[in-house]
Amino acid sequence: MVVSVVELAADAYLTCLTHALTTEKEEVMGLLLGEMRDGGRVAFISSAYAMRRSDKQADRVEIHPEQLSAAAMEAERLALKLQRPIQVLGWYHSHPHITVWPSHVDVGTQADYQLMDENFIGLIFSCFNDSDKRCSAQLICFQSYSPTEGSRLEYLQLPVKILPSPHSTLSGACVSALAHLPEILLEEEQESYATCQRSHRHYVIIMSLILRRYYIIFSSDIARMIF
Ligand SMILES: [Zn+2]
Repeated sequence: MVVSVVELAADAYLTCLTHALTTEKEEVMGLLLGEMRDGGRVAFISSAYAMRRSDKQADRVEIHPEQLSAAAMEAERLALKLQRPIQVLGWYHSHPHITVWPSHVDVGTQADYQLMDENFIGLIFSCFNDSDKRCSAQLICFQSYSPTEGSRLEYLQLPVKILPSPHSTLSGACVSALAHLPEILLEEEQESYATCQRSHRHYVIIMSLILRRYYIIFSSDIARMIF
């Protein structure tokens, strides 16, 4: 059965939203962990797995295979620990300063993920949206589909219910996902710093080659003037 309703545990919602609010300059992303219920009709999201971005661009997010397999391993670990059929159910990403609606890139990316798993879902968190006078965060869940064979891809919005967490507390999986966020942000900054250093080294080499070339031209001109 194809998923028709998405249930999001309140602590998983808090985890995704906290991640989305960590930066208003670029999009962040992660994977959604949980289980299928009601014979596959309901996707219940119980926790999230924040992902490190290797390429910080304002409007591009993609899942790297090694991060997907790390999230699948985390789902397996939780399944064993909780004795529940936990799996990777979908992905989430943020839209800082823009509307919540999926872009054509999002719709294409989502369609690619649905080739792996037809139930795969996508969540988008819109935040820091200046056009929204209330400055509220918005959430949408979507899947991609072609209205007719070979036609342009469109998105289908799925209803999302936010469920109170049992025992009014955060689950261990969400606590560890939240605690992992600063570590991911630090790794991203270290990677950006290393990239800057590499490009600075290239800049120094190029500048020294240019200066050497000018020095040779200058020396030969001086030599011509003297002799
Ligand atoms: Zn997007």
